[in-house]
Amino acid sequence: AIRVRYAPSPTGHLHIGNARTAIFNYLFARHNKGKFIIRIEDTDTKRNVADGEKSQLENLKWLGLDWDEGPDVGGDFGPYRQSERNDIYKPLLQQLLDEGKAYESYRTEEQLTADREAQKARGEMPHYEYEYEGMTDEQKQQAIADAKAKGLKPVIRFRVPKDHDYAWDDIVKGNVSFNSDTIGGDFVIAKRDGTPTYNFAVVVDDHMMRISHVFRGDDHVANTPKQLMIYEAFGWKAPMFGHMSLIISADTGKKLSKRDESVLQFIEQYRNLGYLPDAMFNFILLLGWSPVGEDEIFNKKQFIKMYDEKRLSKSPAKFDSKKLEWINNQYVKEADDSTIMDLALRQLIKGGNIPENPDTKTIEWARQLISLYKREMSYMAQINDMASVFFQEPEEVSGDALDEISNDTAPVVLKEFLDRIQKLNPFDSVEVFHTIKAIQKDTGIKGRKLWMPIRIAVTHEMHGPELPESVELVGRDKAIQHIKQTLN
Ligand code: GLU
Repeated sequence: AIRVRYAPSPTGHLHIGNARTAIFNYLFARHNKGKFIIRIEDTDTKRNVADGEKSQLENLKWLGLDWDEGPDVGGDFGPYRQSERNDIYKPLLQQLLDEGKAYESYRTEEQLTADREAQKARGEMPHYEYEYEGMTDEQKQQAIADAKAKGLKPVIRFRVPKDHDYAWDDIVKGNVSFNSDTIGGDFVIAKRDGTPTYNFAVVVDDHMMRISHVFRGDDHVANTPKQLMIYEAFGWKAPMFGHMSLIISADTGKKLSKRDESVLQFIEQYRNLGYLPDAMFNFILLLGWSPVGEDEIFNKKQFIKMYDEKRLSKSPAKFDSKKLEWINNQYVKEADDSTIMDLALRQLIKGGNIPENPDTKTIEWARQLISLYKREMSYMAQINDMASVFFQEPEEVSGDALDEISNDTAPVVLKEFLDRIQKLNPFDSVEVFHTIKAIQKDTGIKGRKLWMPIRIAVTHEMHGPELPESVELVGRDKAIQHIKQTLN
């Protein structure tokens, strides 16, 4: 049976790279009618943050993912938090100790640091040196007894087999192989407090939870030989592995770094800017995977149907925020009005451009404004900037815009327009449109020479959405005031 898992560490909000891992596992499970499981890897207690788990799960749900087993929904193979599985790990650690496949290591942090410094000075890669090298069993027992007497607490290390190749057929990368002599020596599988490290817990859990395939980031490749050793030590069959290429920034070509604040990397941030979840899902999926053919926009159901893990790319995925904006705009254009209205209204409130609890008149006005900009928005927060002419007193007309109205006909048009809109009833886009057409008929002025002066006088901008609608939204009083200013 196909069973895959997404195994986040609750160290913060959901990162784009982790969301991608989750989505690829999810699609693989759903495409193959298998199970998708969430497991919380919270063994590194120092790095855990309050609410990390909650926020990660919330954002996964927002992206449209659902899971068959997990900390919140339960399942037959729980608990689904590693911090609650110590009773499972303990006897298995003991088993490796008893079989001589692991041992207690008392070397202190200070000694280990000193070892590494000495190795570096000798031009060697830092590694752990077996602390009982050359000792008889008796001497080893004595060394351990001495350390215990001093009150030292041991870590448990895995005894790495010498000069042994650990290879696997990676679903993404093809054949990968590591020689056991190159992985830095016997590694820690339990910390001084007795709790397991990631490399141990992940093997136990993937085995116990009957995980069949592991799709995860490239950054875990070097962990895989260690995990294969543990599978071998227990005599368990390892799952299939697929390590997905890393994500690089399209601007710099460098690996996306969580510390780089110039790129938004957390799902939460996009959510706050009013991106649409389906668009995010679509965009993230294209980071390292591509459908057959040219089209890139599909819905989730179609993606599930067409998903094929063999199309995961070996080369790094380029994170391009312009592309995300383009994709989101495609979804915005297709989205139903009520979705867009809700999201954009919230952004207008956030931007301080309409009050927290708008009255019905304001909401009606905002609705018109939003529909005017809907097709142009990449994400909803843009409405505040795009529509700023409707909220703020515009700057004085200058530059190209001033040139555009510095001719003989502009004042004629503006005087006519000013005259006629004073009496307009009702003052709406339809009537404004008829007014402009009437001026054309009466004065013979048309095209750019007719429309541009009105746009510039009313909005102080040369570009913008439909002019009659814009005039309506600016409102009669302000429009009159702006035109008078321009005419002076
Ligand atoms: N907890 C690990 C991480 O957040 C998951 C590693 C794995 O999938 O094996 O990167």
